[in-house]
Amino acid sequence: MENLTMSQLLFPSVDKTPADYEEMYPPRALKEGAKVTRFSPSPTGFLHFGSLFAAFVASRTAGQDGVFYLRIEDTDKKREVENGVIGMVNGLKAFGIVPDEGALSESEERGSYGPYTQSMRNHIYHAYVKKLVEEGLAYPCFMTEEEIAEIREKQEAEKVLPGIYGEYAKYRDITVEEAERRIAAGEEYVVRLKSPGKPEGRISFKDEIKGKIEMPENILDIVLLKKDGTPTYHFAHAVDDHLMRTTHVTRGDEWISSVPIHLQLFRVLGFKAPKYAHIAPIMKEDEETKGKRKLSKRKDPEAAVSFYAEAGYPSGAVNEYLMTIANSNYEDWRRANKTESMDKFDFKLSKMSKAGALFDVVKLHDVSKTYISTLNADEVYNAVEAWSAEYNKELHALITADPGYAHSIFSIERGNKKPRKDIGKWSEVKDYIAYFYDELFDGEREWPQNVSEADRKALLERYLEIYDPDGEAQDWFPQVQELAAEQGFARAPKEYKNAPDEFKGHAGDVAGVIRAAVTGRLNTPDLYSIMQTLGGDKVRARIREAIDK
Ligand code: GLU
Repeated sequence: MENLTMSQLLFPSVDKTPADYEEMYPPRALKEGAKVTRFSPSPTGFLHFGSLFAAFVASRTAGQDGVFYLRIEDTDKKREVENGVIGMVNGLKAFGIVPDEGALSESEERGSYGPYTQSMRNHIYHAYVKKLVEEGLAYPCFMTEEEIAEIREKQEAEKVLPGIYGEYAKYRDITVEEAERRIAAGEEYVVRLKSPGKPEGRISFKDEIKGKIEMPENILDIVLLKKDGTPTYHFAHAVDDHLMRTTHVTRGDEWISSVPIHLQLFRVLGFKAPKYAHIAPIMKEDEETKGKRKLSKRKDPEAAVSFYAEAGYPSGAVNEYLMTIANSNYEDWRRANKTESMDKFDFKLSKMSKAGALFDVVKLHDVSKTYISTLNADEVYNAVEAWSAEYNKELHALITADPGYAHSIFSIERGNKKPRKDIGKWSEVKDYIAYFYDELFDGEREWPQNVSEADRKALLERYLEIYDPDGEAQDWFPQVQELAAEQGFARAPKEYKNAPDEFKGHAGDVAGVIRAAVTGRLNTPDLYSIMQTLGGDKVRARIREAIDK
């Protein structure tokens, strides 16, 4: 009776009961075993690579059969920024992560388990706290900040567990009369859980990533509702993940220490607890100490996801990399299934690193090179066009001036069995294609070391005479071999190796001289294709210029 009166005193205008909400948000009708996951950021607008990773893991866990939703945890108004939700939504979308349900912007959402923004759910939290008060499992606490600070000091001095519990929980058994009097006097209060935990109690649970974990049971009378009536993270987590029918809570492992509180909340609320998967932070090798540390927003540019867009790492490549660090067996799978969609890979939480995967830009670059090598010329053109429009106007102007020409450049050695892996990010494209454009070609040439200047000139003069812009691919190298033989070079490396004193070098060196004359470089994709793309006039002009220089 006393509890009922207390609950009415604290929540006079709450007219719905937990049973009503249970009915409004029934268990989801999904395939047997389908998982429901969520990503639940604070709307700070800033997407850290670690958060992107967490969202990726949640979305991959739900997979094709499950539901992955976005919940906005905006109960801490201090951390909020304007249009933070849109910032997060777009941030995820840029990497192809589009939740099935949840917040879409500051004012829109999709799905029937909402509202998906915590600040719009106070009426729901209040109904559940009201019930706990009614059951004698929660109470109003009028302790002031000063009182709490004093208790903390005392606990520190006595080296006992800090917090409000047992003898420190001054208002645990407050009467309705006292509560009424204090409220009437305008005193502020929070609502606390009356923790049923025992000091000697232990809990254990199986974390999907970390395995079995055992910890002391929670004995703290933690805050459920703050003075302004908004929920704490702990309480909102229990109510939201229950009503949104989350099956797997994937979140940062800084929350492991709160699991005893969470399991207790699920129990007192009569909810089935979700499965937990605590993700270790992404680590980085520290350049100074050579030790491992967390990827840091302050020290590492790659911690902000804007880094990837600016550098021009395709989102598909970043996804490949995310999966590589999520499940270390992914790389082998990818090697064996080069063209399969990542969706076919059997992602497993249990295969994630317990201690924290290591972020490695070199590896990312490598993964990205492989990824880009699988794109066709159209895809490359479109991606470079979009990237350069934002980040490199000069490149953008060049490629869009003659899209057909740019397409043929990007077609070189693409779409064949072993495509080249020259490009790791779009910011490398300008340099990669520079020699195709007179505007970018600086005339500097790196020559093969083992051919003298005189031989070089002779080779190029003669090549100008025999060069046929309309020649077929299969005739190109034989012609270079002819030229080689005529100018005292061997036709093949082997021939040269067998009798190094008889030759000046071999046909490969001759091709190198032509390559350097035309492109300025010693290493390029297929030279015949390059020359066909450049066209006869430009090839001749480049060779002439190389001779005269
Ligand atoms: N809002 C919490 C955070 O940003 C989310 C933790 C969770 O996923 O439960 O850390």
